[in-house]
Amino acid sequence: MEHAIKLVRDLVAINSINPTLVPGAPGEADAAHAVAADLRSFGLDVTVREVQPGRPNVVGVLEGRREGRTLMFCGHLDTVGVAGMDAPFTPVERHGRLYGRGAQDMKGGVAAMMAAARALAEGGGLETGRLIVAAVVDEEHSSIGADALVAEWSADAAVVTEPTDLGIVVGHKGFGWVDVEVLGKAAHGSRPREGEDAILRMGRVLHHLERLDREIQSRAPHPLLGTGSLHASIIEGGLELSSYPDRARLQMERRTLPGDAATLALEEVQEILDGLRLEDPSFRASARLIFERPAYELSAEHLLPQTLAEAIRHVGGTVTVGGASFWADTAVLGHAGIPSVLFGPGGAGLHSTEEYVNVADVLRCRDALAELARMFC
Ligand SMILES: [Zn+2]
Repeated sequence: MEHAIKLVRDLVAINSINPTLVPGAPGEADAAHAVAADLRSFGLDVTVREVQPGRPNVVGVLEGRREGRTLMFCGHLDTVGVAGMDAPFTPVERHGRLYGRGAQDMKGGVAAMMAAARALAEGGGLETGRLIVAAVVDEEHSSIGADALVAEWSADAAVVTEPTDLGIVVGHKGFGWVDVEVLGKAAHGSRPREGEDAILRMGRVLHHLERLDREIQSRAPHPLLGTGSLHASIIEGGLELSSYPDRARLQMERRTLPGDAATLALEEVQEILDGLRLEDPSFRASARLIFERPAYELSAEHLLPQTLAEAIRHVGGTVTVGGASFWADTAVLGHAGIPSVLFGPGGAGLHSTEEYVNVADVLRCRDALAELARMFC
């Protein structure tokens, strides 16, 4: 069996569910130590650094013989939960597909970047420059791993090996989460003069959000990413059937485009609330930004995607350049000054109960990454 494929299998067999997403889950430590041991086995200089207790990033460095550019490969070790899966940590290969939690998102990509480094190290090393192989924690929640990585390490370019069907992805959307609270007045259900219905008042907010979403989605689309959007994610409120609800709470998500301000989602909601207060002085509501991550875009003319395209052709692949709708650590690296793209193996079922990575794609990804390092560094 190809070493790269054995690596995917070994990593899938290790439970590395993100403990912030699923309380009590083990986190990335066991996977991180397996990655560190493999990188050391072919001579990389390896650092294991805890970002939070029990949640270490792993960074391996392959130094070239002479000075040159630094290239980084980066992938995350955490996975989402496994509810509804029969045997999530038992890797099974069928018809060229390797099944298991994290196979596609993104242990396939992590194995490909590690195997690329091995191919370079065992093929005589790097002539010039430096290759950094980084396996980070917590991408599936708030990317504390990538944040810690860029605080300590830099590079002239980076490839994040998230699943892209072996296409070069030069941009993706960002997001903002906003918490909206509308206040009412609790009262007996038979006494309308004493009560204020917080849920019906939240309806006013929802009505305006739906209109705003339609307006956002009717704007001129970004050539790679389409338009922004918003949706109401979680709503709660009310006490019992026979009472006026005293409060209602909405948590919503706004997906953003490159160039959108970090505070855009909050500002849009605040404008809606201001308008509702003008219409009805008894309307009481507040909003706050819970979390946001910016969108990211690198010019397709940049040296990194150009060189990667050449590397893909060298190993017999077909080049496509596009955007992704999902957010990824590329934004953390990119906004820290490391020009980044996404490039990783194909498969299907990420975050669902049947997840797989295409075995041939893992090998093609490995070959293209190794070729890229030879050409770029
Ligand atoms: Zn991922």
